[in-house]
Amino acid sequence: MLENDTIAAIATPSGEGGLGIVRLSGPGTFDVLPKIFVPATPVSWPSVAGHTLHHGRIVRRTDDGPPSPFDDVVVGVFRAPRSYTGEDVAEITCHGGTLIIQSVLDLCLKSGARLAEPGEFTKRSFLNGKLDLVQAEAVADLIAARSESFRKTAFDQLQGRLSKTLQELRRELLDILAHLEANLDFVEDDIPALEKEPARIRICALEERANALLESYREGKILREGIRVTLTGRPNVGKSSLFNALLQEDRAIVSDVPGTTRDRLEESLIVQGVSVVLHDTAGLRSMTDGSSSGVETEGIRRARQSLERADVVLFVIDSSSEWTREDSDILEMIRGKNTVWVLNKSDRPPRFKPDDIIALAGKGVPSIPASAVTGDGVPVLKQAILKSLPALSQGLRSMEKETPPSITNRRHAGLIETARDSLRSAAAAIGRGEADECVASDLRKALEALSELTGDKVVEDVLKTIFSRFCVGK
Ligand code: GDP
Repeated sequence: MLENDTIAAIATPSGEGGLGIVRLSGPGTFDVLPKIFVPATPVSWPSVAGHTLHHGRIVRRTDDGPPSPFDDVVVGVFRAPRSYTGEDVAEITCHGGTLIIQSVLDLCLKSGARLAEPGEFTKRSFLNGKLDLVQAEAVADLIAARSESFRKTAFDQLQGRLSKTLQELRRELLDILAHLEANLDFVEDDIPALEKEPARIRICALEERANALLESYREGKILREGIRVTLTGRPNVGKSSLFNALLQEDRAIVSDVPGTTRDRLEESLIVQGVSVVLHDTAGLRSMTDGSSSGVETEGIRRARQSLERADVVLFVIDSSSEWTREDSDILEMIRGKNTVWVLNKSDRPPRFKPDDIIALAGKGVPSIPASAVTGDGVPVLKQAILKSLPALSQGLRSMEKETPPSITNRRHAGLIETARDSLRSAAAAIGRGEADECVASDLRKALEALSELTGDKVVEDVLKTIFSRFCVGK
């Protein structure tokens, strides 16, 4: 699987910037570089030291006449195997103009390099054993991280914490399997039979660890994808004002005419490092009293969908006016959902006593007095949103202390689930006193799943899918 050509790609985002980087990697790196780069101080490329910087000029050579200088650059040099890819690498830092960067790349390609595929640098790093597959995938996650929590998990994975746990599981599994297979191969020899109960206990312990990882995936999913919060309530209670207050900016249109709020808005904010995706619904007015038409408008459909998908529903009421039939109807619709009540317009004299709210909302349902106009109560509301999700609180707590590493990737979760199920089945087979061969076959399945996960045994197609997620130049 090892590749031996030399690849090149732009490693910085497109557009203008102070600097741009073109990266070269492969055994021919120091054949390509001297063709396009003239260092200010002469360098003997075949023996150039790694981890060094070289100032000089990119030049364009023509068939006739001297080479013409093109840009002033600094080239970072890394020698195999002490580089990101494990190969010889050069990173050309040029001025960050689109034309310049593209031209430097073109010069590399004309001088013997091939354009890298998406993720190919990281793929080579994996193929050369610098990173295992889990770590390689963490690179893409780290780059894509939009929230502190996700960044931390991805960085942990890149550092190899998850890989270490997975390797421990694999080793333990291999050990149990080796025992069992020794038994199978040498039944006639005088090898002590596998002591069944201790093996079963070891397998169950592995199953439990796999389960814990799967559990972390569930928690991590919220951290990674963010919480979906949907604002609902009858017209004019202050949903769009609150939406803005939560975002601390005035983006939505606020109006005094009931029912004129635009269809739906979606914005993201970060609360305590967690990404919160905020939806505002419209159309609920017709949703509750417009049954006469019998037809659901697109707005209503989307409002319903948003409510269905919400992790938290913010039920907004106007605490300065009477409870209405419409409030009741909407409340009925969101029954059973994870709800936080917002007693909005708290800057005005209240019409409700705390007991009234408990009577309406039910015991234990959080209700937060707030004013979208003055901003009072908005920070408390943000906290209440996070608190309403126990799995999230758990996830946040784990972020603060040193906890076992967590799973964030669906591919990983799928394979761990397969491993967990096979382990469960192996333990059950022992419990039923089935033949060692059946147990071994389940254990092998579990091992295969773990090996595919870490990349110890993985097919090219899987690699292709994984690395196609990456950007070119990574
Ligand atoms: P929506 O229809 O639920 O989205 O309500 P809007 O956000 O459009 O607000 C309706 C009216 O209530 C506007 O005139 C807002 O200025 C006003 N409003 C919203 N929140 C508050 C609040 O906390 N206090 C007061 N006094 N007025 C508010």
